[in-house]
This record gives sequence, structure tokens and C-alpha cells, in this order.
Amino acid sequence: YLEVEHLQKHFGEVQVLKDISFSVKPGEVLSIIGPSGSGKSTLLRCCTFLETLSSGKISYMGQEAVQAKDGKRPVYAPKAEFRKIQHYFGLVFQNFNLFPHYSVLRNITEAPRLILKKSRTEAEKTAMELLKKVGLADKAKAYPCELSGGQQQRVAIVRALAMSPSILFFDEPTSALDPELTGEILEVIRLLAEDHMTMVIVTHEMSFARAISNRIIFMADGYIVEEGTPEQIFERPAQERTRQFLAHYQ
Ligand code: ATP
Ligand code: MG
Repeated sequence: YLEVEHLQKHFGEVQVLKDISFSVKPGEVLSIIGPSGSGKSTLLRCCTFLETLSSGKISYMGQEAVQAKDGKRPVYAPKAEFRKIQHYFGLVFQNFNLFPHYSVLRNITEAPRLILKKSRTEAEKTAMELLKKVGLADKAKAYPCELSGGQQQRVAIVRALAMSPSILFFDEPTSALDPELTGEILEVIRLLAEDHMTMVIVTHEMSFARAISNRIIFMADGYIVEEGTPEQIFERPAQERTRQFLAHYQ
């Protein structure tokens, strides 16, 4: 589904991502863990084209989306193809990022109507089905400010799902929430995993990552230090750096 090859990212003189390569297969749940500042968010932002690459290549569904050769400007797929590639993924941020002046329903239906050209009836039908799944059917008419953080984040997940993405990216989806609201978001993600949704999740919730993931990537200082199954990473990490990091969570 997703293939990242030799990705590097510089901000000015500072190199934040150093030769990152990994891939995500259909139906797989991949969690990315690592200390603050290790480049996890930057990596997600590169994969979702919110940042340009300094070098390397990203492909979705075997289609090359962007390739950057050292020092040169990144080259994107032709516009029509690139637009299509952008529909292959959805992104859920730490801070929900809902439109405050739109109702829940409009937050969810806006992109399917404008971009997928769905009719209002069709878009609202899908939205209501998804809202029901996350237990928020009764909040369709509410505005984001009237919802709890956990409810807002569930709406943000529904908004991403309404575009029928092939891969869903999460950047610390629970870190802005009070601990008692974290569980409801993790439960929604767990249900998505049961439905075989392909997901890439940056998280500090180690027990959750361990329970839900097929594969874990541990990043530090802009490198992938270690990659493996949850058992490999959490029970017998090969690298000292991984052991040090995980010791903070025991
Ligand atoms: P956290 O766990 O705290 O979210 P992270 O692993 O997501 O950390 P990033 O946000 O990717 O880390 O940041 C990696 C490094 O890149 C940091 O040193 C950060 O200061 C730097 N960085 C990120 N964005 C920019 C930017 N736009 N300009 C300059 N430096 C940046
Ligand atoms: Mg981050």
C-alpha cells in the first residue's frame, strides 16, 4: 500500500529524518514509537505531503507519488494522479482540527461533497452510519465546542473515514485528552483494526501499541533504530537504545 524509500528531511541545516525506509501492507497496523523530537510527526507529515522531502521516494499502491533527489526540488506525480493518490490516505491529528463554525455533520460531509462530488443525501447517510458506529449519532447537529475532547476526536476520525481512505494515519490521537477520555478513542481504533483498516499510528500508549499492532517501528534521532513484531520490540529488543526508551514506560 505504502512504500517509503530512503526518505531524508532537512529543516535548513538540521537533518530530522535520516534515510528512512519502510512499507505498510494492506490490513496492517503499524505503530511508530520513539522519544520526543525523534521525527515521528515529521515522518507522518512527509507521508501525507504536508512537508516536502529532501530526498527519497514515496509510493502509494505501487504508484510513485513523489521523488526527491538530493538537493533538488521534489518531483510529484502528474496533478491528476497526485490528486488520486491523496485520496488513498486520511490523517487524524492530536488536536482534532475540526472546523469550529460547522456542525458535526457538516464537518464530516464537506470533503465528500466537495472533493468526491457526493450528493448531500449520500454524504449525510454515510456520515450518520459512521457516527452511529462511534456512538455519536445524537451529536450530528452539535458544534465542536459543545463536545468533549474525546467526542471531538471521534468526529475527527469519522471525518477521515468518510473519505474512504485506504490508509489512516494517526499522530498521537490521545495525547491531548484527559486519561479518562483516552480509552474511548483507543476503543474506536481497536474496532477499526478489527475491520482490517490499514493504519499507521504514532503513539506514546505502549500497552495499546503492543496490543493492536502487527508491527512496531522504534525511531530515535531521525533513524529507524529497530523494527519488529510487538513481541520482538517489547519483550526482546535487539538494540540498547530501544531498551533504554522502553525502560521509561515500565
Ligand atoms: P513528539 O513526540 O514530541 O511529537 P516527534 O518525534 O513528533 O516528537 P517531530 O515533531 O517530527 O518529532 O520533530 C523532529 C525534529 O524536527 C525536532 O527537533 C523539531 O524541532 C524539528 N522540526 C519539526 N518541524 C520543524 C520545522 N517546521 N522547522 C524546523 N524544525 C522542525
Ligand atoms: Mg510529534
